[in-house]
Amino acid sequence: MMGMKSDIRLIDDNGLRIDGRLPNQLRPIKMEVGVVKRADGSAYIEWGGNKIIAAVYGPREAYPKHVQESDRAIVRARYNMAAFSVDERKRPGPDRRSVELSKVISEALTSAIFVEKFPRTAIDVYIEVLQADAGTRVAGITVASLALADAGIPMRDLIVGCAAGKVDDVVVLDLNKEEDNFGQADVPMAILPRTGEIALLQMDGDLTYDELTNAMEMAMDAAKKIYNMEIETLKAKYGGDVNEQ
Ligand code: ADP
Repeated sequence: MMGMKSDIRLIDDNGLRIDGRLPNQLRPIKMEVGVVKRADGSAYIEWGGNKIIAAVYGPREAYPKHVQESDRAIVRARYNMAAFSVDERKRPGPDRRSVELSKVISEALTSAIFVEKFPRTAIDVYIEVLQADAGTRVAGITVASLALADAGIPMRDLIVGCAAGKVDDVVVLDLNKEEDNFGQADVPMAILPRTGEIALLQMDGDLTYDELTNAMEMAMDAAKKIYNMEIETLKAKYGGDVNEQ
């Protein structure tokens, strides 16, 4: 939610943000794979104040049968925020926002997975937000991509989510909660870094064409760093051959 009015200064006289970051600096990120024993694949991410777990089941025969596609797998991501994940208790269960996020995340993941290899099946991806601090959809896509890799599901590339936007008239990378609330624009993206392909692009707020280009370039650069973290995280569990699917 952009554009709440306030007197808060989001960029100080030294050009630093309220959490001390430079405009093009990411929040700290930590990742882990293989955290849910019963899932076919799983992963956990801490990204700034976000804590998100992803669990993947499948590919398995899709039920109910009428949802099956005869030539490909369907990818069903379910984005859910825990009741305790935000300041005020979030009402449990799907709301308009989580239905939208589930849809856009499903589409982004579908574009990376070789779905045509698994006709009539479903790949279920559960994304549980335990703690939210803005940027959960892009962090959710990133952790889901790790869980899919952990499940051994063949993909054209790992996906990386990353957002950029504008606060106090400055284009910045990876907005935190205050910046998201009181800033001017937020542009969440999902990227396949090897090809530079964009799997998700949304925009909340207003940017000029040049600002949008700048924000997208910032997110693209950061995506390469996050991609390397994903590779390292998978290598730590699987050894050197994670890139050869
Ligand atoms: P994203 O998390 O992808 O940035 P939004 O821009 O919709 O998605 O949300 C920004 C942030 O606002 C969330 O990460 C979360 O911290 C907070 N938020 C979202 N929905 C709620 C809610 N129902 N109650 C309280 N805070 C929320």
